Amino acid sequence: MLNILDLNLFELKLWMKENGESAFRGKQIFDWIYKGIYNFNDMKNIPKNTTDKLNKNFYFSIPQVLRKLKSQKDDTYKFLFKYKDGNIIESVVMKYKHGNSICVSTQIGCKMGCKFCASTLDGIVRNLTCGEILGQILKAQDEIGEKISNVVLMGSGEPLDNFYNVVKFIKLINAKEGLNIGQRHITLSTCGIVPKIVELADKGLQITLAISLHASNDVMRKEIMPVAHKYNINELIDGCKYYINNTNRRITFEYALVKGVNDSDKNAEELSSMLKGILCHVNLIPVNEIKENNFKKSSLESIKKFSNILIKNGIETTIRREMGADINAACGQLRRSYIEGKNNIKEV
Ligand code: SF4
Repeated sequence: MLNILDLNLFELKLWMKENGESAFRGKQIFDWIYKGIYNFNDMKNIPKNTTDKLNKNFYFSIPQVLRKLKSQKDDTYKFLFKYKDGNIIESVVMKYKHGNSICVSTQIGCKMGCKFCASTLDGIVRNLTCGEILGQILKAQDEIGEKISNVVLMGSGEPLDNFYNVVKFIKLINAKEGLNIGQRHITLSTCGIVPKIVELADKGLQITLAISLHASNDVMRKEIMPVAHKYNINELIDGCKYYINNTNRRITFEYALVKGVNDSDKNAEELSSMLKGILCHVNLIPVNEIKENNFKKSSLESIKKFSNILIKNGIETTIRREMGADINAACGQLRRSYIEGKNNIKEV
């Protein structure tokens, strides 16, 4: 059986033609799917012999909702989704005045080993297909009863370690016959796999690239992000410059501030020199505290001080608001609590 959500319009039309149907039927089915109909029998203008054929060959990777949590502090929803094979992932929906944003997972688990992240603690199970990533958006839209207009690939998994599916997913959600989400409303966050950044730049997409940097020098980065042993900061910055030159897009550098580790004035100065002259923006984030490490959040005062040094040095900087802190909204935390059988968080 094939997952119909893995197919783009061209592929679906082709399948229909190759299976004795008209390509036009493919377009009709595609329209139903993106209207939220995930059962061929409910597609009113499709004849029975065609739906029989479709039922025999396809399934929909719409995940089942295991948990739906709503933050008491803000308009953040966290979903724990289960796929057909029993694997569990999480997605977060944040409601803003300018629209709804979803943070999707791209892999089950992650092999990258970043020290501050709960998603990597048990390694990787498998990649998600493009249709499975899309399924997170379709299900979340049904659950909140509203459209999603911004997509962030920043949940569990390293998107560039699942390159083919991620690029296809971006094209699928960007397609005007699909969800029609503008590329500039899509952000891909990577820990810094340099050759893949270059490959992505060559695709000429207009998405925003976010780099999880989190350190102002190689020694420190190697301590918290194993990927830094493979690609040093100079190589990473060169990859970013290549991306900017090819796409004309500003890069976001994510920097999670850990008390006493990477939040000193010296770190802020080092970071400023590293990013000088680069078309970029720094997003400062209070680190997510997870019980498996001893990281403590920097105080708001230190974060502001750090930010002021960057701004003084001409680096555009923002401090990210913590969303959904009361519902384990950080990457991988809820899935982990659930798997460990410790999920005592109240559902909506
Ligand atoms: S931060 Fe991202 S790349 Fe690093 S371990 Fe977590 S999911 Fe993987």
